[in-house]
Amino acid sequence: MDIQLYHFGYIGVYETTKLIKGVSHTTSQGHEFAIKLMNALKNATLKWKKETGLGFALYGTPAESLCYRFARIDKEKFGTIEDVTDKGYYTNSYHVDVREKIDAFNKLKFESEFQPLSGGGAISYVEVPNMKNNLEAMEEVVKFIYDNIQYAEFNTKSDFCQVCGFDGEIVINKDMEWECPNCGNKDKGKMNVVRRTCGYLGENFWNAGKTKEIKSRVLHL
Ligand SMILES: [Zn+2]
Repeated sequence: MDIQLYHFGYIGVYETTKLIKGVSHTTSQGHEFAIKLMNALKNATLKWKKETGLGFALYGTPAESLCYRFARIDKEKFGTIEDVTDKGYYTNSYHVDVREKIDAFNKLKFESEFQPLSGGGAISYVEVPNMKNNLEAMEEVVKFIYDNIQYAEFNTKSDFCQVCGFDGEIVINKDMEWECPNCGNKDKGKMNVVRRTCGYLGENFWNAGKTKEIKSRVLHL
């Protein structure tokens, strides 16, 4: 027998909360609304499941190109709305706004509450610098993940410039181009850039919206 599973993807819980409540979903007022919103989405999938006998599940999607497309269409339709359509992208699933300053432990704790509501798939990340000289801190976070959250990963930078041999973080400059901070190389054919964009590590070059989102990310450790 074939088992059909339909993933019902959502993005922008942060933007929706900001739009409706005027605050981030990490505030207590925003949090209450965001949980309510997630339950409404989850209940819709349960209802469809019951009605059709098909396996619907709520999926926290990164929406690789959609996160940009929807933000662009909404901006054309509704104009520039602060923290919603002015950024050039929508935030991945239930995630904390990538620009928001929050430490790794609080981020994971906060996001862990959303994962059980997102039964079709969910992943959380924390952005970390090069941690090779602070393995104890890494271990602490791994233990915290084990005790507190279903699925989480680290994002770190391990880029390489083929022109000068620079090994570290290749940056996005003010013209939204990838540039080696050591030699100024901007030739994408001569650099390797690795960032996590959709649950798996992606190498080299994303659309304009995703590039803006990557540039906006703050560190959590
Ligand atoms: Zn270089």
